[in-house]
Amino acid sequence: MDKYIIIGPQGSGKGTQARLLSDSFDFVHISIGDIFRWNMVNHTKLAARVTRIMNEGRLVPDEIVEEVVRQRLEQHDWNFGFVLDGFPRTRSQAEYLFENWNLDKAIYLDIPEDVVFGRVMQRVAEGQGGGFTKRLDDNPQALRVRLQEFLEKTQPLLRLFEQKGMLVTIDGNQSIEGVFESIVANLGLQTAAAKSR
Ligand code: AMP
Repeated sequence: MDKYIIIGPQGSGKGTQARLLSDSFDFVHISIGDIFRWNMVNHTKLAARVTRIMNEGRLVPDEIVEEVVRQRLEQHDWNFGFVLDGFPRTRSQAEYLFENWNLDKAIYLDIPEDVVFGRVMQRVAEGQGGGFTKRLDDNPQALRVRLQEFLEKTQPLLRLFEQKGMLVTIDGNQSIEGVFESIVANLGLQTAAAKSR
């Protein structure tokens, strides 16, 4: 069973890569942001607690996030493993993860800040064009807050993963296919085609 997390700032492509990995290797893709957005669409009690925070681009309090992750992972529907997308983002969340779930690797999508900002602004423009699903936290103010939260709270976690020998740093400034191939090679994963050879 493979247990991975994928870390990177907004616009680094972590959602895309987590999905590709899960589709190719039968892992379960768990996106905390998607779980929150599902709750918002369905107007749940949880949504009432997190909507404003999320829309402002701030991080949701650790105890709420850890509970969501615990409930999701305890479903144990991840026979081949999971890719956690967007967790952990703080020191407390990382400690929760180390204490409760035996993580294999932390995949970090490394990408220069100016590239991130360019990609994200493109997403804002596309959202305003109406052709894409608009995320309420894809506006310049919330984006600045999200990037700040990443730099202050999430990026420092990389050292922790490095000390534990779990960190896999990938150059995120490549094509989607290029990033994916680097991840697969670095994790030593075998595609079905390679396995049957
Ligand atoms: P994402 O879709 O991963 O960009 O997450 C969207 C938003 O959900 C974030 O900006 C936070 O408000 C919230 N969120 C997602 N994951 C976490 C987390 N691990 N800790 C705190 N807040 C989170």
